[in-house]
Amino acid sequence: MNRLPSSASALACSAHALNIIEKTTLDHEEMKALNREVREYFKEHVNPGFLEYRKSVTAGGDYGAVEWQAGSLNTLVDTQGQEFIDCLGGFGIFNVGHRNPVVVSAVEQQLAKQPLHSQELLDPLRALLAKTLAALTPGKLKYSFFSNSGTESVEAALKLAKAYQGKRGKYTFVATSGAFHGKSLGALSATAKSTFRKPFMPLVPGFRHVPFGDIDAMRTLLSECQKTGDDVAAVILEPVQGEGGVILPPEGYLSAVRKLCDEFGALMILDEVQTGMGRTGKMFACEHENVQPDILCLAKALGGGVMPIGATVATEEVFSVLFENPFLHTTTFGGNPLACAAALATINVLLEENLPRQSAEKGALLLEGFQALAADYPELITEVRGKGMLMAIEFTHNDIGYNFASEMFRQHILVAGTLNNAKTIRIEPPLTLELSQCEQVLKAAKVALEHLSELQEPEDDAA
Ligand SMILES: *Cc1c(COP(=O)(O)O)cnc(C)c1O
Repeated sequence: MNRLPSSASALACSAHALNIIEKTTLDHEEMKALNREVREYFKEHVNPGFLEYRKSVTAGGDYGAVEWQAGSLNTLVDTQGQEFIDCLGGFGIFNVGHRNPVVVSAVEQQLAKQPLHSQELLDPLRALLAKTLAALTPGKLKYSFFSNSGTESVEAALKLAKAYQGKRGKYTFVATSGAFHGKSLGALSATAKSTFRKPFMPLVPGFRHVPFGDIDAMRTLLSECQKTGDDVAAVILEPVQGEGGVILPPEGYLSAVRKLCDEFGALMILDEVQTGMGRTGKMFACEHENVQPDILCLAKALGGGVMPIGATVATEEVFSVLFENPFLHTTTFGGNPLACAAALATINVLLEENLPRQSAEKGALLLEGFQALAADYPELITEVRGKGMLMAIEFTHNDIGYNFASEMFRQHILVAGTLNNAKTIRIEPPLTLELSQCEQVLKAAKVALEHLSELQEPEDDAA
């Protein structure tokens, strides 16, 4: 057998990796070797920037923790065998917990049958999931396009709106300040943060941003756009901004946006990639105000923390622009059998265990606990806010947020910042978090704040 010179080393690397994948446990030497390798390869082949970033999150120094496996439903375990309560929830992917047995079993059974589809015959799970989502989602939402991520679900929504509204001479998109919709060129055009956008300009033309929560600003923009002929094709927004730092709009905002869209003939696209699947205390956050979007974007927790899957669900009126040529927008892996099996099981678990309700109740308990702590440490915390199990603690300073995260990490509780707002630490645990674990998290937060407050004091004395 003649191999290319480079293939010998790639073969050895892959064999070594397979050997690690096979293992269920590591002895001390293997653990040390793996941690060293992982750090080195992140530096040399993934992106050294990530190592810097993670170091800055910890004051302790050994945050070079390498993850190994899910622990229980609400915990994860690193290569050293340390178990962490997950209050980050993978940025909102673990709503039904880690390795939820119902989801894992559905995926395993489908894996044994047929992991990926032929692309030619009709795939049954795609049909069953689309039907299930039509039943689950509000209002006239009826047709689903499946993809592999939140970004792709937004991308599909934007293209759908373009295809529908282009014929009507409407090309402008309105998004909101602080918004996060993903980082592909289309989704990034709707995302708001300058740091992420600037290096990639010019982006897709026609996108405008208005302050989130300000209905008057949105009305003014829609009306000005109409006067200039730049009519608005669609408004895209999150019901609660996740990466923006868990920003809640004033009550009634969402339904006011819906009214405005109707008045101006603009489509309403709701990005519930993070707020969906029970996160905010209802199955979908728009249900808090009985709002029905024309297009709904889902992903993150839809795959039950086992498979990646995105869904763009639309009304027949809008989606029908793809009927004549269903190949106008497609993806090879979107809606594959493994992903659909995971999503179907996830929806089943969310409903069977009424996790949206649990999210509302446990979220209220945690929020109350954090708010009590905030009242004790006004010099550290400016605000605690949230809805259901999507919560944030806003600190007076970026550094305090980072230090809080590493203090929590030392107590084996995982929390982290948001992408668009560094002062804010998010609390986004699995909706399956147990009451005793809620108490444990609050206790740890109290200890962390006590430490941080002591650290602050010498400076105050000097001043
Ligand atoms: C995470 C997120 C996205 C992007 O999803 P990916 O799966 O990371 O591509 C889009 N919109 C919102 C609201 C998100 O929170």
